[in-house]
Amino acid sequence: MEKLIITVAPTGSLPQKKHTPHVPITPREIIATAVRCQAAGAAIIHVHVRNLQDESASTDFRLFEEVVQGLRVETDLIIQISTGGRAGMSYEERCERLRLIPEMASLTTGSVNFPNSVYANSPELIEKLAADMLRYGIKPEMEIFDLSMIQNALNLVEKNLVQPPLHFDFVMGLKGAIPATAENLMHMKNTIPPGSTWSAAGIGPAQLPINTMAILMGGHARVGLEDNIYYRKGELAANEQLVERMVRLGRELGRETAGPEEARRILRLK
Ligand code: ZN
Repeated sequence: MEKLIITVAPTGSLPQKKHTPHVPITPREIIATAVRCQAAGAAIIHVHVRNLQDESASTDFRLFEEVVQGLRVETDLIIQISTGGRAGMSYEERCERLRLIPEMASLTTGSVNFPNSVYANSPELIEKLAADMLRYGIKPEMEIFDLSMIQNALNLVEKNLVQPPLHFDFVMGLKGAIPATAENLMHMKNTIPPGSTWSAAGIGPAQLPINTMAILMGGHARVGLEDNIYYRKGELAANEQLVERMVRLGRELGRETAGPEEARRILRLK
């Protein structure tokens, strides 16, 4: 089996300091977390930024720029910018950050009901973001919250908006999206085209079991406070602790960790 690529998603849109002191909010905190996570074994960082006044999800280009510049100076991590957005954010707000030309960006290929909101990704929005990524040479990570989103990703290939081989991330266990079961993970893995690469992310208590199943099935693992703030029940985690646990688990299960350069080769990044 290939070496294990560990993605860290340290910030996301939701957890705040009042939930856990370990969530990095400011650009400086995000960069410092990234340095620790690379030392721990992460190869990819999935980037969100926050407004500094109230810790809410931000679309501010200058914040993305500050984080990306810092990551490029202080780490060798593969930078994957999220193109996700909260309700009401426009295409313009969600695509501007791609001008920073990260090696990867996330692309959610469908809409899904979050517990209290609609995560809306219209066909037009998805195609425009895919076209931008193609033009900039950014590899999309298809964020798959449900089976139909795999089909939507394949439709983008048919429209020449994405070049294979594709890379998928299965996001499982979110209320409103696909439940985090072994059967569902197996089915999604078997649905993507041969030659694709994939990782899996579990939300909350699903993080550890889903990551473990992914390691066993030849996939890669995404950890981090975006998806889960606990190390175990009742005990908050720091991002690097979650990365370290993946490294240990991978080693026990016969998967050495891929560094950023090896991850670039496995993912066929240019
Ligand atoms: Zn994200």
